[in-house]
Amino acid sequence: MNQERPDEYEAKRIVERVTGIILEHADTDGGVDYLSADGRSAVEVTRVTDGRKRAGREALAASREAGMPAGELRTCWLVFVPETQSKLKVFLRRVHPALVELEEAGETLFDRERAAIHLMQQGPLSHVYRPLIAAGVERASAVPNHAYRPHSHRVIPSLGSGGSCSGSDQALDLLIEALGKKEDNPKKLKASGAEERHLFVWLDDDTRLDIARPLSREAPSWADERFGMPSSRPALDSAITHLWVVHQRSGMGWLWDGWIWRRLPGFSESPVPRGNV
Ligand SMILES: [Zn+2]
Repeated sequence: MNQERPDEYEAKRIVERVTGIILEHADTDGGVDYLSADGRSAVEVTRVTDGRKRAGREALAASREAGMPAGELRTCWLVFVPETQSKLKVFLRRVHPALVELEEAGETLFDRERAAIHLMQQGPLSHVYRPLIAAGVERASAVPNHAYRPHSHRVIPSLGSGGSCSGSDQALDLLIEALGKKEDNPKKLKASGAEERHLFVWLDDDTRLDIARPLSREAPSWADERFGMPSSRPALDSAITHLWVVHQRSGMGWLWDGWIWRRLPGFSESPVPRGNV
């Protein structure tokens, strides 16, 4: 008999609250996670995440606790660094002052390859690029026009080379691609024989950023209309009639009901605690 996991239970509560359907835990011998009493609705709960990012994330958290480095940023910066980069514990202390200098030079972008060429040509920004290259930064971009929400600007590190997605539709394509590798989900839903076959997908802080960005509520997604609801029909396996995508920390989510996309109400009271960088 399979135990009901906390994240399954939380997903069930969300589906119940939104649809009004009452669900029973059904995964006693490897079948679908939940079924309604009348058997018309089935729910399978899954997660799209990347375990390798955890160690890097913990090192970055330590880096943040080491205290704020000197120099004030004029805007937030999204900074991409591979999770395998060493010395992440001192990452912010190295990167923050360099970005302050980059701002002073009027720059809004850092690209590792271009910076390396600049360095070889001994260009005027070499002294700024050098510490960014040494810290392992692949790319950094200033987040424009988001000061309507008062805060002190900061460096937002993102692990992994991902994050280049152009908006919610592309994030959704990447998610569907990742779901394609989880063949069990459609198999179980199909075997349930239910009319409505819901796949509930959790995202979290270890999910690739190019997938999680629209729902993670990290700047800059909330300042950018490209990261609103998806506009396209998801290319789902025919075994899936409903797709739920919810970010565990932000509580933000979308629901595809077979016809349209809907924004889910925020589930910020989520009792499933997650570490947060
Ligand atoms: Zn900011």
